[in-house]
Amino acid sequence: MSNAIRVGVLGFGGLGQAAARILAPKSEMVLVAAADKKGYVYNPAGLDTQNCVSAYNQSGSVGHVAEYGVLSNDSIADLIANADVDGFFLALPNLPNTFMADVTRQFVASGWQGVLVDALKRTSAMEQILALRGDVKNAGITYMTGCGATPGLLTAAAAIAAQSYAEIHNVKITFGVGIANWEAYRATIREDIAHMPEFDVEKARAMSDAEVEALLDQTNGIIALENMEHADDLMLELAGICSRDQVTVGGIVDTRNPKKPLSTNVKITGRTFEGKISTHTFTLGDETSMAANVCGPAFGYLKTGVWLQKQGLSGIFTAAEMMPQFVK
Ligand code: NAD
Repeated sequence: MSNAIRVGVLGFGGLGQAAARILAPKSEMVLVAAADKKGYVYNPAGLDTQNCVSAYNQSGSVGHVAEYGVLSNDSIADLIANADVDGFFLALPNLPNTFMADVTRQFVASGWQGVLVDALKRTSAMEQILALRGDVKNAGITYMTGCGATPGLLTAAAAIAAQSYAEIHNVKITFGVGIANWEAYRATIREDIAHMPEFDVEKARAMSDAEVEALLDQTNGIIALENMEHADDLMLELAGICSRDQVTVGGIVDTRNPKKPLSTNVKITGRTFEGKISTHTFTLGDETSMAANVCGPAFGYLKTGVWLQKQGLSGIFTAAEMMPQFVK
């Protein structure tokens, strides 16, 4: 335990809670801190996942965890100031679209040094993060961005698959997500609604839960998306693989059924040095949930971030530039 990486999870909704459950049996990482909008919990000896989940779901905040919980309206700042953490997974909503960049500036200003990992989705949100490159590097923070499923696992798979080709023609990501009820992942669903025709981030953010319900009633719980603004494009461009306009992302989210409406996959088409045109396809197993495919890679990249930091490398790296390491 003493050598384990001390992890904090910011945001304790759908992904934050899944992250805590994923870490519970690990020996190389220990969850010591978590925060939500109304409080935080910190125990240097490790958190009890079940206590945190119960406090959050029954009383509305991990700040209600007995002995270690603290209620706060500025939970992120208070946690940074009071906790000894090696790396944070930012399982926060990016609503407004500038929120994650604001949190990053908060970390830089605090003087904290360590590893940050996000599962950011929008290209315009990642551009804001990348604009902070110099500040993050100078602060001694190693920031791994776009490290969920898409962007994340699928973008990294595309970067590897591209190696067979002399020229990349296109990268097509198609995701299928099935969740039993939208309330378990409110931010994810609001951010998906923001991609629907006639919606944007601000409109989706302003919707009440009843309005989200009403919209989902109209679509029978299905959100179908195409040509999404997803940072996979920027990440593959930065990695030198193709230009961003060669990358497309779309998918179907069923908010009323945990079964995936389609198999999540990425197709990478290109031309080999012999002149053959071909397509590699990487398909995720249908039994794997969104939470497994987001939080698994996020911690794999967190481990990579710690490894980079031990070598004195700070700054911002994307999932397409690095391999995730496996957390035991
Ligand atoms: P959620 O709505 O279930 O939970 C959000 C949590 O953040 C809540 O616990 C809330 O209390 C907390 N929070 C909100 N504002 C806060 C603040 N100011 N300070 C501290 N805590 C605050 O969210 P979710 O559905 O788990 O999604 C989290 C993020 O993950 C979203 O931005 C979503 O887009 C992203 N995501 C990425 C991928 C990917 O593959 N890259 C996939 C799914 C979700």
